[in-house]
Amino acid sequence: MTDPGIYLDYAASAPLRPEAREAMLPFLEGRFGNPSSIHRFGRDARAALEEARARLALLIGAAPGEIVFTHAGTEADGVAILGRARQVRGAPVAISSIEHKAVLASAHAAEDDGTRVIVMGVDGNGVVRVDAVEAALEERPAVVSVMWANNEVGTLQPVGEIGERCRAAGVVFHSDAVQALGKVPVRADAVAVDLLAFSAHKVGGPKGIGALYVRRGTALRPLLFGGGQERGLRPGTEDVAGALGFAAAAQAAEAQREQAMARVEALRDRLEAGLRERVPGLLVNGAGAARLPTVSNVSVPGADPQALLMSLDLEGIAVSSGSACSSGAVEPSHVLTAMGVAPEVAGPSVRFSLGWGTTGAEIDRVLEVFPAVAERVRALAGP
Ligand code: PLP
Repeated sequence: MTDPGIYLDYAASAPLRPEAREAMLPFLEGRFGNPSSIHRFGRDARAALEEARARLALLIGAAPGEIVFTHAGTEADGVAILGRARQVRGAPVAISSIEHKAVLASAHAAEDDGTRVIVMGVDGNGVVRVDAVEAALEERPAVVSVMWANNEVGTLQPVGEIGERCRAAGVVFHSDAVQALGKVPVRADAVAVDLLAFSAHKVGGPKGIGALYVRRGTALRPLLFGGGQERGLRPGTEDVAGALGFAAAAQAAEAQREQAMARVEALRDRLEAGLRERVPGLLVNGAGAARLPTVSNVSVPGADPQALLMSLDLEGIAVSSGSACSSGAVEPSHVLTAMGVAPEVAGPSVRFSLGWGTTGAEIDRVLEVFPAVAERVRALAGP
C-alpha cells in the first residue's frame, strides 16, 4: 500500500506492536522446539510458553494454570459455550442478544445436540438487562454468556453484577473480553467470572492466537482431541511465538492503558461532537451507556449503507459497517436491532474504532470528509 490512509478499524484488528514482534522473533527464527518434547529444544520452548502464560495470568489476576491458549477469540468462545453445553447435557445455555457471532453461532451449534438457547435482551443503549439474566438463571443454564464490552457499539456490560448473580445461583459465567482487554480493566480476581475469552490481534499481538481463562474447578469438555496439550482443552502443538507475542502485546497495552485510553477517548469525543454538529440527523448508537473509549457507532439515516462505506474507503478512511452484507442483501446489525434501532437507522451505520496510533490530524480529516460524503450518499438515495 502506498498511502495506507486513515485506519479507524482497530476493533477489527490492530497493528502488531513492536514489543510483540520482538518477543516473537527468536521463536520464528532459531528456536523451534515442540513444547511437549523432553529434550532441550522442547524444554526451551516449554519455558517460553509457560513464561507467556504466567505473564498473561498476572495481567488478568489469574493463576498460570487457569490460562488455556487457543486459536484466537472465536475458539475461546467456542470452547466456553460448546464445552459447557457438552459438559452439562440437557441444560440450556443463556447468551445475550448482542454477543459476537463467535458466541451466537456456537450457542446455535449446540442446538444440534438438543441444547436450548435462552437469549437475554438488552436496553436501548445495548446494555444487557439484569432482570433477563435473573430470569435465565431460574432455568439453571450450563453457562451464562455476556460479553465484557460489545464490539459494535462499545457498550460495557454489567459483568460485576451479572457475575455475582451467577455465582449466587451456582451457574458458570462466561464473558467474551476480546474487545475489552487493554482498554478497560479486565480482572478475574475482581469479578465473579469463570470463563473469559481473549484474542491477541485486538491488542496488537499476532493473529491466530487467543486464550480462554478457566477458573479452577470449572468443568469443560474440549472440542478437539489429540495430544492433551493445554490441559486437554486445546490439544495440538502450541504456537510458542504467538503466545509470546500475545503476552508482550497485552503487557504493553496494559502498561500504557490509562494514558493511551484517556487520549483516545478525547479524540473519540471530539469525533462524535464534530459529526453531530456537521451531519444533520446523525445518531450515535449506545451513547447513553458507559462505553469503551475507542468505539463510536453512528447512523446516518437516509444514506445507502454500502455507498457510505465505499465512499469513505475511496476517501482513504477505513471503518466498519454496522450492517452485514449477506447474499447481496444488506442486513442491519443484530446488535442495533436488539437495541431496538429501526432498520432504516440501523442499516446506514458506521463503526469507528480508534487505537493507540490514531492522531488528532486523522480525526480532523474525518470531520472534513465525512459530512460531504454523508450528504452525497444521502442525495444518491433520493428523497
Ligand atoms: N469476540 C469479539 C467480541 C470480537 O470482537 C471478535 C473479533 O472480532 C471475536 C470474538 C473473535 O476473535 P478472533 O478474530 O480472534 O477469532
